[in-house]
Amino acid sequence: MHAKSTPNYLAGYPIALAEQVQRLIEQGLLTNMLLQKYPHAHAVRSDKALYDYVLEAKGMYLRNAGQLSKVAFDGKLHVIHHALGTHTNISRIQGTKLRAKREIRIAELFKEMPLKFLRMIVVHELAHIKEREHNKAFYQLCQHMEPDYHQLEFDLRAYLTYLEATGQPLWSAASVDIGSPLNK
Ligand SMILES: [Zn+2]
Repeated sequence: MHAKSTPNYLAGYPIALAEQVQRLIEQGLLTNMLLQKYPHAHAVRSDKALYDYVLEAKGMYLRNAGQLSKVAFDGKLHVIHHALGTHTNISRIQGTKLRAKREIRIAELFKEMPLKFLRMIVVHELAHIKEREHNKAFYQLCQHMEPDYHQLEFDLRAYLTYLEATGQPLWSAASVDIGSPLNK
């Protein structure tokens, strides 16, 4: 018999590091560490706000990478190991032109997270416009857009591990810092 498998969000990291996160969760120490580093939830609460946020980042780094036809939070998207968000690239012939329809969907879970975590996943999905695989060029592009990319992904995965174990979110709409210039 097998135990019900749960996603291992830290599978890509050294075992010692993953175990350290487990210990911090068991000792109840991870929550304070995360809340100190990321005290507030972001204010990107709607698909429209998400679209604007993604377009702003795209305009800064990937201006010429084609149009995005849709950007949305997706409640059906399950956050699993390699699918924190999705992007699709549907090519079809329109008249004589090949049109690429690009969509970015972000798991709804990201609605109630710090801006930095949302930024990490947005950068990840934007980078896929140029690089399909999770290869060296892909991660270089991620880091170009967000220098803290690797630390943010690790912190996010630590949080997801905590959330999987406890079911208790650390941030909510009520913890939005409306005074922050980042949360315009
Ligand atoms: Zn990916």
